[in-house]
Amino acid sequence: MDSSNYILSLADQCVKCGLCLPQCPTYALKANENESPRGRIALIQGWLSGQLEPSEILTQHLDQCLLCRRCERLCPSQVAYGEIMDQSKALLAKETKTTFSLQSLISSLSLKLLLSKKLSGAFISILRLFQKTRLIQLVASTGLFKLLGLQRLMSYLPELNKAIKTKHFYPASTSSKGNIALFTGCISKQLDAKTVTASINLLNRLGYGVYVPEQQVCCGAMHLHKGQKNEASQFASKNIDVFNQLDNITAVVSLVNGCTLQLREYPQLETSKQFTPEVEDIIEFLGEADWPTDIEFTPLDKKVALQIPCSLQNSLRAEDKLMTLLQRIPDMSLSPDTIHNKCCGAAGTYFLRFPQISDQLKAAAIHTLTKSSPELIISSNIGCALQLKAGLNQQNTNIPVIHPVLLLEQQLKTH
Ligand code: SF4
Ligand code: SF4
Repeated sequence: MDSSNYILSLADQCVKCGLCLPQCPTYALKANENESPRGRIALIQGWLSGQLEPSEILTQHLDQCLLCRRCERLCPSQVAYGEIMDQSKALLAKETKTTFSLQSLISSLSLKLLLSKKLSGAFISILRLFQKTRLIQLVASTGLFKLLGLQRLMSYLPELNKAIKTKHFYPASTSSKGNIALFTGCISKQLDAKTVTASINLLNRLGYGVYVPEQQVCCGAMHLHKGQKNEASQFASKNIDVFNQLDNITAVVSLVNGCTLQLREYPQLETSKQFTPEVEDIIEFLGEADWPTDIEFTPLDKKVALQIPCSLQNSLRAEDKLMTLLQRIPDMSLSPDTIHNKCCGAAGTYFLRFPQISDQLKAAAIHTLTKSSPELIISSNIGCALQLKAGLNQQNTNIPVIHPVLLLEQQLKTH
């Protein structure tokens, strides 16, 4: 079956009941059928059956989807919305010529910068030096970032610490339950090194040896969501080779919810290779793990709010594992009104491409998360955490946003 017919076969599962509409963030903001899951599926059906031209406006309606997959989770007909969108964008990119615009050039340069380990490493090192010496304010005041279209990206930059250089292998601290390999994602080592270290420490304490293969590359999700299926397949192929070489591991454990989903959906990229070990999110892995009784946590004497990323909730469907994990910390109290479980508007590079929609969703998330005046916000996806930090900074609110694994490690009792 060719791609068109394959996509149509998936799209035809939609019975147009409309139950997904009230749950779709873009439909809630725009009140426009074309900005709803049902509307986007109908646009794809119209285009692939020859009734609609693959126009710029059609592309824009598809691009403005956050790919949060809330619709997919709630659909009674189990329409594979995420796959329909990924396959359609790849086909659309093939069939349409991209018209040049400064915005698309900046967006693709930003993507290259974010996703190339070498480029982002060098860029972040320079920025860290600029931050330390306060040169960054000076450069910002010249308007250079604005001129280069980097102003928004720069406003998302957290305080930069030195990136960690990981070892190839970290042996288990106690009797070994086996080995796992860690997928860190493109930016965690640079922007959230503490969570990488905390994950290794916790896994070692649980009895797992941890490999962190240096040759791992970007998961490819952002490329796929932009219709660049070939690039995404190349990343998939490289990662599969890198992790399959470690023949004594029981799982590939991924630190970033969005990356976990992409690694797990590599079979949709039609690469001839597959991961030999299971792919698990760190939240799933730790949530299901058998914890030795000598691992204890100190009570948390703080008011906490929780953001549940879309990838964890709607695709991995592992929010219960997150709750199980957090409940290991004594006195952790989370009432439903301190939890935000809708899209925060980060959505990969969406926050750069559609700032207006992204900002509206960010404001709603910040409103829910801060209304009980928490001292700490928990988020398990680095993209969401950066989005929330940017929103809090804009309000001059200094609430730390922390990964649940880092929180667990900080609460660990040392005997
Ligand atoms: S995607 Fe699912 S919930 Fe939405 S209209 Fe189609 S069948 Fe109904
Ligand atoms: S993935 Fe999210 S934004 Fe896109 S149509 Fe579904 S609910 Fe709406």
